Amino acid sequence: MIHRQRLIDRFISYITIDTESDPNSNTTPSTKKQWDLANKLVEELKAIGMTDVSIDENAYIMATLPSNVNHDVPVIGFISHFDTSPDFTGANINPQIVENYQGQDLVLNAQQDIVLSPDYFEDLLLYKGQTLITTDGTTLLGADDKAGITEIMSAMEYLIQHPEIKHGTIKVGFTPDEEIGRGAHKFDVEKFGAEWAYTMDGSQIGELEYENFNAAGAIVKVNGKIVHPGYAKGKMVNSMYHATEFINALPKQEVPEHTEGYEGFFHLYDIKGSVEVTTLEYIIRDHDLSKFEARKALMQNVVDDLNKKYGKSIFEIEIKDQYFNMKEKVEPVMHIVDIAEEAMKQLSITPLIKAIRGGTDGSQLSYMGLPCPNIFAGGHNFHGRYEYVPVESMIKATEVICKIAELTAKKNKF
Ligand SMILES: [Zn+2]
Repeated sequence: MIHRQRLIDRFISYITIDTESDPNSNTTPSTKKQWDLANKLVEELKAIGMTDVSIDENAYIMATLPSNVNHDVPVIGFISHFDTSPDFTGANINPQIVENYQGQDLVLNAQQDIVLSPDYFEDLLLYKGQTLITTDGTTLLGADDKAGITEIMSAMEYLIQHPEIKHGTIKVGFTPDEEIGRGAHKFDVEKFGAEWAYTMDGSQIGELEYENFNAAGAIVKVNGKIVHPGYAKGKMVNSMYHATEFINALPKQEVPEHTEGYEGFFHLYDIKGSVEVTTLEYIIRDHDLSKFEARKALMQNVVDDLNKKYGKSIFEIEIKDQYFNMKEKVEPVMHIVDIAEEAMKQLSITPLIKAIRGGTDGSQLSYMGLPCPNIFAGGHNFHGRYEYVPVESMIKATEVICKIAELTAKKNKF
């Protein structure tokens, strides 16, 4: 059994160190304070008995749990990030522990009238009878992804203390700056040396994900012509009106607010306009690669058609790919998903296999040569004051890690 109080203490020791990342910084890690936790994690990995513990100049941490069997087993890894989201403050976190939750409203902060209620957050009702860790309403919690770090650390400690559980070589990786999209950027896949890995960075218990969006960004620039309005007839070109023509030429229902599941979209997230120039900023998302390519082609065609209509180059477009669906890289090695699914089933966890409507570090890593599905870490309501995590989910995630290690060593054919 995973030691419950030890796991809680460990988690709290991580979340009470502020590690908020900063998208406006060019350094790695993006904030100096991430070193505070990174250095502590290095010491802890050594203390629990991991080998080859290293931290590089960018604060990427790696460590090894050596195999305890004589036969060949694929080397696998587990990865989490130790930064927290810049969307909400992670300073002075004051966690609240609610034992034996009964489905009631939880007053996070009486003074500011901040309540965590199942009326709004129905997921809470999944956890009746369990122990929840919440915020005091003034910060995020940092379960994203310090729950993942806690689980990996606890699982490694457990495997070290229980040599009767047979496993191959296990690699551990802790990264900075995931929340600003850079967690995988400087990850040395070769040095890590695993055949595949799992990010412990999902939400609800049971989550197992190996599909995410294909993603691109598009900037449409519309050029107008400014002339004195009193003398503008036949001369002025108002770029803002032309911009609306572009906006209206895209399918109206294919936007985030009208799509779910595997439906892709165009998302206009910024407009800056004046008569002379208007800029539209879009993101394009689709799980299906051919539909994704078709979306990009459609935008280009609209630009070409409008330029033809007006007989000049009023419209310019620049489309840049951002990331791709890891499914392309995981499907050829589906046993890595099957093992995780099997591990959950053996632990009486119902696997929730679904496509991520977003990206993940695992997708970048998958394209860097390390296939990397994502597994639940247990938290809910990430990036804000309503974030919470059930202790039981963290324990289950820890057990899933141990079980995956065990099952990988048992299978002799991949
Ligand atoms: Zn995360």
